[in-house]
Amino acid sequence: MTRYDALARRFGTPLYVYDLDRVTAARDDLFAALPESFDVFYALKANPHPEVAGALREAPGRACRAEISSTGELAAALAAGYAAADCLYTGPGKTEGELDEAVGSGVRTFSAESATDLARIGSVAVRHGVVAECLLRVNSASASARTSIRMTGTPSQFGFDSETLPEVLPALRDTPGTRLAGAHFFPLSNAKDEASLVAEFEHTIALAARLRDEHGLPLDFLDIGGGFSVPYAVPGDRAVYHGLRGGLEAALDRHLPTWRAGTPRIACESGRYLVGDSGTLLSSVVNTKESRGRSFVVLDAGINTLGGMSGLGRLLPVAVEPEEDSPAAVTASLVGPLCTPGDVLGREIKLPSLAPGDTVAIPNTGAYGATASLLTFLGRPAPAEAVVRGGEVVSVTRLRYERVHETVPPERPETAP
Ligand SMILES: *Cc1c(COP(=O)(O)O)cnc(C)c1O
Repeated sequence: MTRYDALARRFGTPLYVYDLDRVTAARDDLFAALPESFDVFYALKANPHPEVAGALREAPGRACRAEISSTGELAAALAAGYAAADCLYTGPGKTEGELDEAVGSGVRTFSAESATDLARIGSVAVRHGVVAECLLRVNSASASARTSIRMTGTPSQFGFDSETLPEVLPALRDTPGTRLAGAHFFPLSNAKDEASLVAEFEHTIALAARLRDEHGLPLDFLDIGGGFSVPYAVPGDRAVYHGLRGGLEAALDRHLPTWRAGTPRIACESGRYLVGDSGTLLSSVVNTKESRGRSFVVLDAGINTLGGMSGLGRLLPVAVEPEEDSPAAVTASLVGPLCTPGDVLGREIKLPSLAPGDTVAIPNTGAYGATASLLTFLGRPAPAEAVVRGGEVVSVTRLRYERVHETVPPERPETAP
């Protein structure tokens, strides 16, 4: 019996297993691939599990900060031990209520995505008698790399368009309750190729320098985003970036020569790279069947457990590695238990020969797993999540959702004009 079979038998399936030693290894590798003085923000969106997020801030000198964009992620970051002062609050639709909670909890650094967003951050800060440090999120007019998830260069709900930012900048600088501390970019995600990643960072750094030098953008802090890559739900290894550090140092020396003295301070962000390879999803085969010459393997985990974002057409299919002594591979569709033909994890993929009761281990599922899935669809329980450190299971938890009654406010008669 393999280790995964034993875990599946002990805790039931579907079961996510997160190995904290892999989380800290990813963090150390990312810090080592970046210039020494860089900050790294962990995007809790990838996996808000408190022990997973917490493992990223435990090392002295190599502790990640937190990138959050909701009250739930704020609570998760605080629960994971991040100080509110170490959080960067981002997102294009921050409401007053959310901002009130964030500022009240001690968050002081925000990415502002529009003039309205900046004004709202400022007005909440004024009400609390504090000043919010704001990074203007910039949506660059051009890009230098092609990637799978592009969020910049096209019309977007994210950030200020770089070509019109100079016109609005003077007004933004006078927003009460705010201090413009710098800029925030997040132009790409999951860049497999190091040369295009470095080129995109250089493009970002050059644009930030130009906005500062030619248009007076304040720049004490520059968050150049991320794009660090790891496979998703298929076998494979995290990217290794041998030339990134040198490439970044050269680009910064060229465009922002005082960066080594701390002006501006530079940060990167990552979600998937830090936690993706720490996770394995264990699922049990419930049924196998043939239909019109095709084979189906029905699992107890579907898009309610993994890959709920597959509607975006970019994350699945999964693949699993046949075990060494397993019988010859077969071709079959790997499907979940939900009553929708969309519950497909992989169509006509190579699989080991499987029978009901077998455990399937889907690798590289530490990022965008449970919380990025259709958890409540069809009313199955959320998967259990086991955390392993030093080879031992240290916790097992399960998210729970429930319907609760809201306080119903009295209907207010419309006031006559
Ligand atoms: C989603 C997101 C991230 C994390 O992206 P990954 O590709 O998972 O590393 C980082 N920063 C921002 C602003 C994001 O929206």
